[in-house]
Amino acid sequence: MPNMSLKKVAMPEQDPNVRNKNFEEVALGYTKEMAMEEAERCLHCKNKPCMQGCPVNVKIPEFIELVAKGDLLGAYAKIKETNALPAVCGRVCPQENQCEKYCVRGKKGESVGIGRLERFAADYFMENGHEEKPEIQKNGKKVAVIGGGPAGLTCAGDLAKMGYDVTIFEAFHKAGGVLGYGIPEFRLPKSIVQKEIDNLKNMGVKVETSMVIGKTFTIDELMKEEGYSAVFIGSGAGLPSFMHIPGENLNGVYSANEFLTRINLMKAYQFPSADTPVYVGKNVAVIGGGNVAMDAARSAKRLGAENVYIIYRRSEEEMPARLEEVHHAKEEGIIFKMLCNPTKIIGDENFWVKEIECIEMELGEPDASGRRRPSPKAGSEFTLDMETVIVAIGQSPNPLIKQTTPHLETQKWGGIITDEQTGATSIPGVFAGGDAVTGAATVILAMGAGKTAAKNIDEYIKNHQ
Ligand code: FAD
Ligand code: SF4
Repeated sequence: MPNMSLKKVAMPEQDPNVRNKNFEEVALGYTKEMAMEEAERCLHCKNKPCMQGCPVNVKIPEFIELVAKGDLLGAYAKIKETNALPAVCGRVCPQENQCEKYCVRGKKGESVGIGRLERFAADYFMENGHEEKPEIQKNGKKVAVIGGGPAGLTCAGDLAKMGYDVTIFEAFHKAGGVLGYGIPEFRLPKSIVQKEIDNLKNMGVKVETSMVIGKTFTIDELMKEEGYSAVFIGSGAGLPSFMHIPGENLNGVYSANEFLTRINLMKAYQFPSADTPVYVGKNVAVIGGGNVAMDAARSAKRLGAENVYIIYRRSEEEMPARLEEVHHAKEEGIIFKMLCNPTKIIGDENFWVKEIECIEMELGEPDASGRRRPSPKAGSEFTLDMETVIVAIGQSPNPLIKQTTPHLETQKWGGIITDEQTGATSIPGVFAGGDAVTGAATVILAMGAGKTAAKNIDEYIKNHQ
């Protein structure tokens, strides 16, 4: 008899007033008993609607059944059949818009906590299992992967399993992409990302860090001089957008990318034991309404800011951030200023941020994105005292690869143009996927693109021997 409770088994969490002062993980994870109780809520629907919502087709009811039976290593192995990074996905996938959105239990009550169960199985494996070193027959062919984010890591892992000699070229001093430099420790502990990278190395994948493709080597050089039969571009969308308002170049204004990279990758939150501090004032404004804005605001609060504002030009309903992130941010004391847009950042005599001027907005008819278009209310300008401003209004692909790769076709905004089915670009033997193609999206979509490209790189190389 299934567990017919309308609510998910609650996730244990750190108290909001404690966690907003530390960088430890907010959600503490299920115990075995909690996981088995939650797994009992699954009805094992014959047509598996939840699977339709999973971009990498995890066999959801099958792994949940194994959790319910207490076969936790079996559950992990089942997820791993199609998902290379379960401990990451269980934590950061927007399940509410994917698998859980289609779960029949969600029609009356809460859907099964699929993400929570995925995370539990992955964490159980990390504590109690070990990754077997697979027997791989090498085929003597080399593939270069540009970028060590989820797209590149997945593509590299799949190709290594097929016998390719794979090298990841990563611009930063550590692989992981946004998983390492963007998503904060309190949502995704970096030790988990490192374990996934170590697993790849264990399979023979080489990781060359501090290698900026377009500077150290061009793609042409990789293929013509370095002996790579194919290249996968998974270089993400790391170029921040700005508002282009007066005062944006004052001291105390950051892009969310810089702010988060300094905290996560450079470990600024461990200052003074780590050597890069990051300055936040008493009052911090974060501009934007997505996950990146939530991460920046919650990080600023943890670094000691008293008042942290999310300033967003539409209403809360239109905010693209995950509901869970918004909920956590509110619990931690972040102040939400909706229907409000910055017009000017005002500095003091030393060119440090002193105030931010904003204008109230109202929503009109829906625009091309289907969201109601915000427009300023004349005469409603107001100012707030502010010492730090963090701009989190979007990112696009860095133009370096395009600039150094003649014939690589891209969209006007910089996204690489690929064949949707294969990931092939306009250059034979060069494939691409993840945020470099779609613009800022999600971890699981980047992983799906890496997987598709790996399969098609294999076919391409076999057809061009
Ligand atoms: P990336 O993760 O960006 O990795 C690209 C890598 O390529 C980087 O390491 C970069 O240094 C490297 N690189 C770039 N140029 C070069 C070059 N020329 N040579 C060598 N290396 C290069 N998604 C979710 O699903 N859930 C979330 O909760 C979530 N939160 C997010 C929070 C933040 C702060 C951010 C920024 C994004 C978030 N996302 C989230 C989005 C998600 O992280 C991305 O969609 C995903 O990481 C894209 O993967 P990728 O591999 O395409 O690119
Ligand atoms: Fe279980 Fe929900 Fe999937 Fe049905 S839709 S199999 S209840 S997880």
